[in-house]
Amino acid sequence: MRRHRNVKIVATLGPASSDYEMIRALFEAGADVFRLNMSHGVHEDIRKRHEIIRKVEADLGRPIGILADLQGPKLRVGVFANGAEELVEGAAFRMDLSTAPGDVSRVNLPHPEIFAALEVGTSLLVNDGKIRLLVDSCGKDFANCTVTVGGTISNRKGVNVPDVVLPVAALSEKDRDDLEFACELGVDWLALSFVQRPEDVIEARVLAKGRAAIMSKIEKPAAVKAFDAILQVSDGIMVARGDLGVELPVYSVPPIQKRLVRATRAAAKPVIVATQMLESMIEAPVPTRAEVSDVATAIYEGADAVMLSAESAAGKYPIEAVTTMNNVAMSVEKDPNYRSVIEASRVVRRESVADGIVAAAREIAEATNIKAICCFSQSGTTASLVARERPHVAILALTPLMSTARRMALTWGTHCVITEPQDRFKGAVLAAVRAARDGGFATEEDQIVVTAGVPFNVKGTTNILRVAPCDERLISRVDPE
Ligand code: ATP
Ligand code: MG
Ligand code: MG
Repeated sequence: MRRHRNVKIVATLGPASSDYEMIRALFEAGADVFRLNMSHGVHEDIRKRHEIIRKVEADLGRPIGILADLQGPKLRVGVFANGAEELVEGAAFRMDLSTAPGDVSRVNLPHPEIFAALEVGTSLLVNDGKIRLLVDSCGKDFANCTVTVGGTISNRKGVNVPDVVLPVAALSEKDRDDLEFACELGVDWLALSFVQRPEDVIEARVLAKGRAAIMSKIEKPAAVKAFDAILQVSDGIMVARGDLGVELPVYSVPPIQKRLVRATRAAAKPVIVATQMLESMIEAPVPTRAEVSDVATAIYEGADAVMLSAESAAGKYPIEAVTTMNNVAMSVEKDPNYRSVIEASRVVRRESVADGIVAAAREIAEATNIKAICCFSQSGTTASLVARERPHVAILALTPLMSTARRMALTWGTHCVITEPQDRFKGAVLAAVRAARDGGFATEEDQIVVTAGVPFNVKGTTNILRVAPCDERLISRVDPE
């Protein structure tokens, strides 16, 4: 199964998307990566969803990426007796340490450290800032508030206290537990919430021991400031606009998004634009014009992936939401302006032989009738460099490693195919040609560009570029072993 677009789609799974039929349908509609949010649901639910995704992957024969999102030091309310309550402006609402289920007048906030830091006049923002509470009085285990902006509050909604610096560790006990659990399951990516410093990323990397790639969620002012250093130690970046738009003025988010996407593209690492992309589709089968425009903007910026949160996890129209993203992507990427915007924002970095080879591959593809750029990649590095070029033809990444193929499900324009390990260049070219034809990227009459590193299986040796005919008889004639 081949996608007819470059940008990838990440879909969060939740109560609205937990069985085989739905997860398969989401993949078929266009989801390339599934996000499992460790903030919601117990390990057994996560394990079940993980198993189902791997079953869909086996049944459809395409590598699927799985991203486990660690809660991080996010403050969340407890649960409500009725699951949810409507808070109206002007009403009193209390948060406290009592673990009794909440009602319309109070709820548990299981974080003694916030009560210690709160002051009268502090604002508490709930559910990505949709609800606002003003603290009227507080003590070491409670805060009595007035609702200044009302809305529906429900189980485990997030709470931000942007005015207060909270003394919290990057990875809580729960996060360490969840990280180990997710790595043992075999997820491909770990997303770290509320990263503030590069050390936070390094700490997670040490615990992951290479079992998963590390994605930093940028959602704190401190992370925006330390972004360059955080990017250097991360394998990917998520522009987590939910908390970012609460922790910083909401209108500062678009320029930050642009900056983060550009810098991450330049580093040849995948970048996801996340949160509220099609928010109204939680309740409606069609998006607003503004939402479509927001998704389109991220695609024009050249982001690797766009993401659905509650739309696919807890909304009424998960499949429609994925279909909408897919349709927006196809429409944008057909636009002649799209190519010119992508090209204008391409970052030129020519520091290594590999950089030069991938640039040459793209230029050859641009100047001729080449149908695909095929690369051989163990770790995915070469494929990421090809993707950084944002070529106008398909990128086929051939790898013997399923783990690499799954991680690359997030990477712009990259179609991964598992191959036998290669040790001869001629065999590699043949494998590339067959993959291009089998995947419908090229016919016998076409040509493709193949890049590889010889000797094979040595990291960082990309040193060959070959324009190969897709007719195997021609290859055998011209290629030496
Ligand atoms: P984060 O800060 O990590 O984005 P979030 O609470 O905003 O956390 P999302 O995954 O972005 O969570 O949004 C999904 C929404 O769907 C949540 O707000 C929650 O109300 C709802 N939901 C309920 N159960 C789940 C679940 N098991 N997984 C994911 N989302 C769930
Ligand atoms: Mg968040
Ligand atoms: Mg969210």
